[in-house]
Amino acid sequence: MTVSRDDTIAWIKACAEVLAENKDYLTQLDAAIGDADHGANMDRGFKAVITKMPEFSDKDIGTIFKTVGMTLISTVGGAGGPLYGTLFLQAGTKSAGKMELNLEDWAAAMEAALGGVVMRGKAELGDKTMVDALTPAINSLKQSVGDNRAMNEALRLSAEAARQGMQGTIPLVARKGRASYLGERSAGHQDPGATSSYLILKAAADTWAN
Ligand code: ADP
Ligand code: MG
Repeated sequence: MTVSRDDTIAWIKACAEVLAENKDYLTQLDAAIGDADHGANMDRGFKAVITKMPEFSDKDIGTIFKTVGMTLISTVGGAGGPLYGTLFLQAGTKSAGKMELNLEDWAAAMEAALGGVVMRGKAELGDKTMVDALTPAINSLKQSVGDNRAMNEALRLSAEAARQGMQGTIPLVARKGRASYLGERSAGHQDPGATSSYLILKAAADTWAN
């Protein structure tokens, strides 16, 4: 199995849909430990991406991801916009010129994407951020490459790893971003950015693995 350019477009559309559907949910999570804008931020960013889609839907996958990243950076404020922007920019650089992605390509693109988020946000595993959902998901992808797993199974496993990472943020005390201002009071709440990261990776599995 490989993911085509059109599959990539379908995933971006699925991200926009799922983030719109979960706008209020993400906002509620951010209301508890942040400033109640994460749902609106992600929805605004991906709506802008959809508007731009005619400009990039005939391009290679690298260009598609880079355009998504630049659009998120220019339309979403706060911490989430630049971090997700960097995620897609780095995935785009890693996928430059490609018209399809196999599992190894996808794992490499996502590893670069996570590397960009970490370089930009300086969060470590356990700081209660999107990194806590992304890291296990990408580790799972790399494991699947090593184990020669089928791509559809690898995508499902990585989404499940992200889900567990997301749930694992609940007891954590935030050490990065706005939630860190709450100190110990941030414990007991699921991190909004880890939740949107899970939704985005689940959208990849739902779009591509069926
Ligand atoms: P803001 O915090 O500026 O309001 P958002 O609400 O859109 O931005 O995004 C908040 C999310 O961003 C958090 O839930 C967390 O997952 C993520 N985040 C914040 N700071 C960092 C960081 N330094 N590194 C990684 N992720 C971060
Ligand atoms: Mg916020």
